[in-house]
Amino acid sequence: MWKVGFDMNDPGIAHTKNESIEVLTFPVYPLGCNCSIVRCTKTGEALVVDPGGDAPRILKLLRDAGSRVRWIVHTHAHFDHCLGTHAVARECPGIEERRPGVAMHPGDFELYENLELQCRAFGVPGQKAETPIDHSLEDDEVLRFGKAALRVLHTPGHSPGSCSFEIEESGLLFSGDTLFQMGIGRTDLWGGDSAAIMKSIRTRLFTLDDGTTVIPGHGPFTRIFEEKQANPFF
Ligand SMILES: [Zn+2]
Ligand SMILES: [Zn+2]
Repeated sequence: MWKVGFDMNDPGIAHTKNESIEVLTFPVYPLGCNCSIVRCTKTGEALVVDPGGDAPRILKLLRDAGSRVRWIVHTHAHFDHCLGTHAVARECPGIEERRPGVAMHPGDFELYENLELQCRAFGVPGQKAETPIDHSLEDDEVLRFGKAALRVLHTPGHSPGSCSFEIEESGLLFSGDTLFQMGIGRTDLWGGDSAAIMKSIRTRLFTLDDGTTVIPGHGPFTRIFEEKQANPFF
């Protein structure tokens, strides 16, 4: 069972935990993307989901907890989900002197390569994607960190390479910009596909356990059964 709460000292950070995993989630500059640090509390090994910006804050939270980062994973390559990737990959505490593996679905490589262009289109100070992607995510692949594991669900539609991530056998899902609380991701951006996003949600997310807690790419958390019951897009 997951317990969701807030930090008394910093109410901007949501704490989600069970017996062996702790997740810190907080919105980061420039578009309030939910960045999460997912930590195996038994080993201190962690992964970072969507370091969209505000790298100094992400790095401080990692260091304060003594976390060592095995993976930096991206739900997709829109600029607001990867503007902090370079600084976090370069400076975060890694494992055995190695920097973490930076992972993304290959369907979004083109978007990642055009990070600067994306920023320009949104009027946000841009930068090139300097850190190469060293791991291509595949549907149903499992990434291990400490004694925990993250399963990749390829859920295209918001972008061609959009993925959701499920903490294995625990009922916690990172849905990226595919599924939001009472909403879905927009499909009018590069490579968006409205039929594909509906199919992804129906066949890959609504088939998960009803009690699954969902941490979306923006905004408040939700649960699968609440979305199945009341999401106005379905
Ligand atoms: Zn986003
Ligand atoms: Zn997006």
